Amino acid sequence: MTMLRHTLAVAALAAACCLPLRAHADDSCKLEISANDQMMYDKQTLWVSSACKSVTLTLHHSGKLPKAAMGHNWVLVNGPDLPAVANAGMGAGAASDYVPAGDKRVLAHTKLVGGGESDTVTFPTAGLKEGGDYKFLCTFPGHNALMHGTFKFGGPPS
Ligand code: ZN
Repeated sequence: MTMLRHTLAVAALAAACCLPLRAHADDSCKLEISANDQMMYDKQTLWVSSACKSVTLTLHHSGKLPKAAMGHNWVLVNGPDLPAVANAGMGAGAASDYVPAGDKRVLAHTKLVGGGESDTVTFPTAGLKEGGDYKFLCTFPGHNALMHGTFKFGGPPS
């Protein structure tokens, strides 16, 4: 009995030791999110490993409406900054893609896209803290109430 338990324990250990580690290839640091004409992102949570030195995010607009009517962007902020960045974005206007130029609260952002368009942004993670409170939003006026989500850097994937 003792022998069997020992054998099982060794087997379990061996299995744990030899499982392949999570791949940290470039692909695992790439994210995709879509937004539509119903003012919705298709994801509420995005996750990347804290092993990612940089993250590449692509925003797709799967709708048909033009940018002026139903434009979407993807803006990464510290959670508590979300309302202020949404307001500042509105003030920045369409010419700035509703992102205030040089605003330190904006950690990363895509361009504003209309139906059928997409945009990709690559940003370093050096300034991000593992397990930090990060949110993303669309800063097109009036959209952030529906268009926001959680960005997880490290920790367990969800
Ligand atoms: Zn939007």
